[in-house]
Amino acid sequence: MLIPTPLGHTGLNINRLVYGTLPLGPLQSNLSPEEGGKLIRYALEQGVTLLDTAALYGTYPHIREGPKGYDGEVIIASKTHAATACDARAHVEQALKELDRSELDIVHLHGARLQNPFLERAEVFAELKKMKMEGMIRRLGVSCHYISAVEQAAENPDIEVVHPLINKNGMGIIDGSAAEMAAAIKRCADNGKGVYAMKALAGGNLISEARASLRYVLDLPGVHAIAVGLLSKAEIDGNLALFNEGVADPATWEKLESRLRTIKIMDQFCKGCGACIPSCSSQALRLENGKAKVEREACILCGYCAAACPEFFIRVV
Ligand code: SF4
Ligand code: SF4
Repeated sequence: MLIPTPLGHTGLNINRLVYGTLPLGPLQSNLSPEEGGKLIRYALEQGVTLLDTAALYGTYPHIREGPKGYDGEVIIASKTHAATACDARAHVEQALKELDRSELDIVHLHGARLQNPFLERAEVFAELKKMKMEGMIRRLGVSCHYISAVEQAAENPDIEVVHPLINKNGMGIIDGSAAEMAAAIKRCADNGKGVYAMKALAGGNLISEARASLRYVLDLPGVHAIAVGLLSKAEIDGNLALFNEGVADPATWEKLESRLRTIKIMDQFCKGCGACIPSCSSQALRLENGKAKVEREACILCGYCAAACPEFFIRVV
């Protein structure tokens, strides 16, 4: 029996397992909208309610396809990485059009690599608030890799949902430890914000200890849910059982934990332009002999560099 969890004071009740759609799209597995839509549909039928996406991910077609004819609840959270008000509005309009919706349940200021998102993206945040007033957005959120940004979100009255990066090893947290991020998360929840975490498996780096890693984040005070990239029915079933019943079928999970993901740079084609380097907040990329190289120990498989390469020469596979 699945018991929905209140997402802070948002009024939304969600399954603790949030469908992270990034891996379905062109930045990672590049499934067709039909293939990705089938997985989304399966997850919805098993009780998942919140789908997480972004203007960057290229997964609106998958999300539109999945719930066709489904009459259960489907909550969609998207994000805008825009640097200007005009681009932010364009991102929201694009989401509404491609998702065939009149409003978006949650839109995050995609502040992943921003230390002070409400200052650095003041113009974008003002535009998001305007779009909320206009009825295009129901709730505003912020996605953060910085602890300082999560702390600011905790005190921001316009923010209802926070989407922070956390995992048991603290991989990808830019300005401190997992314990410090956990404290900032608790502060958000104490102030009524809904919190669903990202990168609990550090983009695949912790896949070999997935159960312990997910349990660590699920048990943190203030974490209402976690977004997990799901690429098979077995992953959906295994995660739902773990999240909702606290059980983990050992045979399923041994298989899931042995699955390896990696970043692939097509270095035979890479032009060495360097456009991908600043997109990596983990400092995992460098140019060497005119080619982009990745330091695998530092890479959290977030896929942002894949979006930054104008030639599509980087993939998370
Ligand atoms: S190398 Fe790419 S995938 Fe890895 S952490 Fe950096 S931006 Fe993310
Ligand atoms: S952006 Fe693409 S082409 Fe440019 S250095 Fe990075 S991988 Fe190579």
